[in-house]
Amino acid sequence: MRECAKAGLVRGENIVMDSTHIKANADNRNQEWAEVIKTPKAFWDDLGVAELPAESSVKSKNPCDPDAGYMSRNGKPKGFHYLDHQCSDADTGLILDVFVTGGDAQDHECCVERLTYLKDGMGLPVKAAGLDSGYDTIGVHFGLTRIGVTAYIAPAKRGIRTEGERLGIEAFSWHPEEDCYVCPNHKKLTYRATWICAGIPTRNYGASMEDCKACPYREKCFTEKTKSKRIVRKPCQEFREEGWERTGTGTYKRMLRRRSVVCEGNFGLQKRCHNLRFTRKRGMENVSEQCLLSATALNLKRLVKGLRLLDAPGEMRVTSASHPGFLTLFRRKSRSVRFLRSAAA
Ligand code: SF4
Repeated sequence: MRECAKAGLVRGENIVMDSTHIKANADNRNQEWAEVIKTPKAFWDDLGVAELPAESSVKSKNPCDPDAGYMSRNGKPKGFHYLDHQCSDADTGLILDVFVTGGDAQDHECCVERLTYLKDGMGLPVKAAGLDSGYDTIGVHFGLTRIGVTAYIAPAKRGIRTEGERLGIEAFSWHPEEDCYVCPNHKKLTYRATWICAGIPTRNYGASMEDCKACPYREKCFTEKTKSKRIVRKPCQEFREEGWERTGTGTYKRMLRRRSVVCEGNFGLQKRCHNLRFTRKRGMENVSEQCLLSATALNLKRLVKGLRLLDAPGEMRVTSASHPGFLTLFRRKSRSVRFLRSAAA
């Protein structure tokens, strides 16, 4: 990383983050159940919203490699895996940070911590982050706002039904000054009660039964089990809504495009050429070592390519229009055009 920074290949303003699974060296049939104590979600406590007690849950563990986690996600292979969380420079594609967790961890759990490390620990001028829908939680929106990073996060479809079935939460607009939601039929959903849900106080809003009874959206709005529409609002939801407002803007589209090109491209290359598909090692430390070596190999290739391009004749260099002062270096290889931006003079 230091060598890449010296060569001017680290810009560090726009960061993209994602994770990939690595098959653990553990037999899926060899499982045992262990009680795990989960620490409370720190950001609720920071806000003074709630003091959450430590939670205990039962998780599947492999006695040969207790650090591996049993992954069970839609569209992903089931079994014991590790997750390699990588932060990359959106402009140059360099991998800036590698962090490994068990396969049962969620992507959003380490996001704020890693970006804080890049900003404060490595001293990078992080301004924006491009993330997929797995990071669309109140904790990530709140945490990134607090450290001064603008988050461009694809909205999660959790609990939102497909068009034609049910109206999603996005169909209801929030009006903080009146402390109410307004529905597609222009009726108000007013505050009803506060419920404690998993230790977190949530505010409940509801429409009147008369309004809903005569509404043309009735069937699309809520199920037969209730008589009027109810919406549950968590504390700090406004940070998430602020993030959703960036959806569809030019910068949002650019960041999400860079996320898919850089993150998916790096993972694909590492899995194909740099030993990231599975691990023969066991234990968090050993697997982290493998992931770091894989990322280092890719960065070294980029460094060599970058240095070679910097020495290239002037006609191969083009000044970047999006980042004045930077150079966009490119060359054609087969039919693809490879981009590399550098701060070199
Ligand atoms: S059913 Fe009730 S909440 Fe839903 S759109 Fe109609 S009036 Fe509004």
